[in-house]
Amino acid sequence: MTINTIAVADALTDVTNRLAAAGCENARLDARLLLAHTAGLTLADQTRAPEQPLTAEARQKLQTAAAERARRVPLAQIVGEKEFWSLPIAVSPDVLIPRPESEILVENILRRLGSRRQDELRVLDFGTGSGCLLLALLSELPAAKGVGVDLSQSALAVARTNAARLQLDNRAAFAVGDWHLAEPGRFDVIVANPPYVRSGDIAGLEPELRHEPPQALDGGTDGLDAYRRLLPRLAKRLGEGGVAGVEIGADQATPAARLATDVGLPTPELCHDLAGLPRCLIWVRQTGPQHEKTLGNGGPNE
Ligand code: GLN
Repeated sequence: MTINTIAVADALTDVTNRLAAAGCENARLDARLLLAHTAGLTLADQTRAPEQPLTAEARQKLQTAAAERARRVPLAQIVGEKEFWSLPIAVSPDVLIPRPESEILVENILRRLGSRRQDELRVLDFGTGSGCLLLALLSELPAAKGVGVDLSQSALAVARTNAARLQLDNRAAFAVGDWHLAEPGRFDVIVANPPYVRSGDIAGLEPELRHEPPQALDGGTDGLDAYRRLLPRLAKRLGEGGVAGVEIGADQATPAARLATDVGLPTPELCHDLAGLPRCLIWVRQTGPQHEKTLGNGGPNE
């Protein structure tokens, strides 16, 4: 081996040590995923042939990626993608990286829809970001159409890319808006993963969060600011028989449910994540004339 070549196993050890020293929790796995990304070697390739040499080019790319990760840039931003609901979702620093716990929201919405999953449902995603919630739902609802709303044009560009890559762009539209959709009408399914972290808590969380857009994380002093603005809109836009769900922070079930009841939503169902923590609230709007009266017309100013 010449001075410029390094075996896969040694490169992995180097990068693992560097990432561990930078405080990365899963340093070894991160190193392997960075090597897969930069050298095109799958995890299986790496295990099968640990002695194979890395090309100078691959080694250089790996070093660059490792330096970024050591600055605690999230792995998903370095590789440009994160899996969500088994779908590859492109990410950039303009969008919140999809979290596995948000799959709980998708799962529970689908469960409530039951036999209506084949229907021509209208889906609305407030604060769509990467589009992950909307696109996961459309991937499971073959006749549904949906709109993703976000305040950030650059986030919407990522969401549009994702819709096209997943061949869901014929059923997904995107619109700029501050928890607001200009197009009138009501929806059968409404979802949102609003920012809900208390402003004062953000600095104490893992450094990776500093690389994500603050407007997707920061929920104000008590973490509930976005719900205050979002829930009245959600209440007005949810049609008869509609199913809505929002992600919440672990200690926000009671205050968020109260905000929702204040704007006329029924008592929600609380769903927990795999760690047993409260993770989302789900509302099912009953059909019937008594509900119709309180709904308004769902028009553009709602
Ligand atoms: N679950 C995210 C986190 O704790 C927060 C996402 C959000 O505010 N919607 O990092």
